[in-house]
Amino acid sequence: MRKAHWIKGDCHLHTANSDGAKRPEELYEALYRKGLDFAFITDHNFNTPGETEFNYHGVGIFPGMEISGNLGHVNVFGEHFLVRSINRPRSREDYEALIGYFRSRGAHISINHPLDRSLPWRLGVEDFQPDSVEVWNSPMHNDDVYCMEWWHKKLLAGEFIPAVGGSDFHRDYYVTRLLASPTTYVYACSNTLADVRAAIKAGRVFVTNSPGAARLFLTCGKKVPGDTADLAKEREVTVSCDFLRRGQILRVFNNDRELLTYRAKKHEDGVSFTLPVEARGFVRAQVGYQLTGPAAGFYEFGATKFKRHTPGEGVPEFIYSFTNPIFFV
Ligand SMILES: [Zn+2]
Ligand SMILES: [Zn+2]
Repeated sequence: MRKAHWIKGDCHLHTANSDGAKRPEELYEALYRKGLDFAFITDHNFNTPGETEFNYHGVGIFPGMEISGNLGHVNVFGEHFLVRSINRPRSREDYEALIGYFRSRGAHISINHPLDRSLPWRLGVEDFQPDSVEVWNSPMHNDDVYCMEWWHKKLLAGEFIPAVGGSDFHRDYYVTRLLASPTTYVYACSNTLADVRAAIKAGRVFVTNSPGAARLFLTCGKKVPGDTADLAKEREVTVSCDFLRRGQILRVFNNDRELLTYRAKKHEDGVSFTLPVEARGFVRAQVGYQLTGPAAGFYEFGATKFKRHTPGEGVPEFIYSFTNPIFFV
């Protein structure tokens, strides 16, 4: 059996079977060309891949569905659902019945874009005990930042829901490259559905901007995000990154304290820091950046038009990549 290693994929994708632009085969081909290892196909209320996972030129194509109604969106990942499509849920009871059904079929439940101002999760995240939560939905925008802050507060309160990203790809516009933006990396022995699901459930995950973007690694000895270390014996973490662009800020949090705040003054390759852990709880890392000048103006224009951004809301520090936490007891 192969040892665990980092593989990359996308947890949230649409085809023409719901409101996406690409036929399923076109999407699979695009995923292969992006160099991904796995992909959950999550059409609205429809399971496109069918009963079982399959492999498309090396890409694990996994069954899934985005249960979609006005009260929120939630992904189910799994196999052998026995249903190809479902009716749009309208009430809390509808959601409970559907999620209960998919759970009974062994599905993994992942709540999508819970703080999206157009389509939030209106039913209470904890009520549904999800296996993961999509804190970064589609290319970085303000609601993703607010969702990360919400997730971080939950960690401080001792609640951990493994965090994933999803491009929510429907189509490209002109020159955009929205597929697998963001990209979710998981630490798994293979790109089979079982291994990828287990890695997500354990929080062995980091998320980065796109398939070619810098990878962000957080380790404590052999431990990776999602794992638990004993602070009496394991007192250091190492955070490393393929590269940092000028102006990007690498932050490492130990609970509410920042162990590291490092701003790259120029493009830097192969950045690595080893840091002492100060307190029990968790350590997590993220790379942020601030949009400035024309990019900020362009973003505000687009976000106001497409994301219900309030004019003058401003642009917080965006996230380029982040890890799930390593826990210290
Ligand atoms: Zn959605
Ligand atoms: Zn979606």
